[in-house]
Amino acid sequence: MLFDDDPPPQLIGIARLAASSGLLEAKRQVEYLELETRRFIGRGSGRMRSIYTLNPYRGCEFGCKYCYARYAHEFMELRDPELFERKIFAKQFRSAAFRAELRRLKPGDTVWIGTATDPYQPAERRFDVTRSILEALADQRGLDIGVTTKSDLVARDTALMARIARKNRIRVHLTITTLDEGLARLLEPLAPRPGLRLAAVAKLTQAGVPVSVLAHPVMPLINDSEASLDRVCEAAARNGATSFSAAPLFLKPCALKVFLPFLERSFPHLVRRYRERFEKSAYLKGHYPEMIAERVAKIRARHTMDRRREPEWPVQPLEDDQMRLFPSLAKGPRPSSTPEPVLYNAK
Ligand code: SF4
Repeated sequence: MLFDDDPPPQLIGIARLAASSGLLEAKRQVEYLELETRRFIGRGSGRMRSIYTLNPYRGCEFGCKYCYARYAHEFMELRDPELFERKIFAKQFRSAAFRAELRRLKPGDTVWIGTATDPYQPAERRFDVTRSILEALADQRGLDIGVTTKSDLVARDTALMARIARKNRIRVHLTITTLDEGLARLLEPLAPRPGLRLAAVAKLTQAGVPVSVLAHPVMPLINDSEASLDRVCEAAARNGATSFSAAPLFLKPCALKVFLPFLERSFPHLVRRYRERFEKSAYLKGHYPEMIAERVAKIRARHTMDRRREPEWPVQPLEDDQMRLFPSLAKGPRPSSTPEPVLYNAK
């Protein structure tokens, strides 16, 4: 009904656009649809209010059991939380319209790619929406850009990100919740295995693109031991990441509907305890978050993650920028010492 050519008249806004989306491709149980998009750049909410958000897709095929972003399909009247991983909407990218949106941003603005989807999920290999966004961002100056992903496909865009870093800040946030491949497969069924994600960390950092590793979410009695978090942090440090963080799981109702049946199948001995905590509140409160914060601080210090230096910004000024910022270079011989890196947008 929802995907008939002629959507029911009571649907409005994004739900109506979703209902009239054209089918791009169907693979196994996944359908790819094209979503007409009038505005690409959104605004965060709550504590994220000052941040601009960019989500190239709606839905995510990786299907993480704890995924909080499943709510995003509810706006399209797709209320079965499993549809989030089976109906993937690729946003229609129109370069001129997107560039017009970018012109409204100011130097120093923060733009976060992938707050409600993974920008490097399998759909990106076919539709290149994330790459198109990054190509437009490469012409911007002074933005603070974050990219969050769980996919090694991000390394495909290493050169493009290094180019963006010449005139903007950019940081990739790679999520690795565990190095245990069996556990990762259970929790994040279609996401690339942790070893591939670490290889992407190495490739990005070797090219001068700063990377943070996030062990989010920390799930009680699943991946929260000091040994497990320490292994992730140690591997992140060894591969050149300059920051590591981990925060406790939260489960909004749409995520709880997927997570509890998953626990019943894979961790039945934990069901009662999770029910007791998360049916009262989406967030863990009290001693547990404090204990995890202390644990993470200790681990970061152990692997010098609290003292790691960022690469200079911009990583490598463009030749024409050097000429503009150091006019003397254009006229005479190069000075013997390399000019100090220039911050295009000192904050
Ligand atoms: S990768 Fe992110 S957006 Fe995709 S299912 Fe997992 S948590 Fe959700």
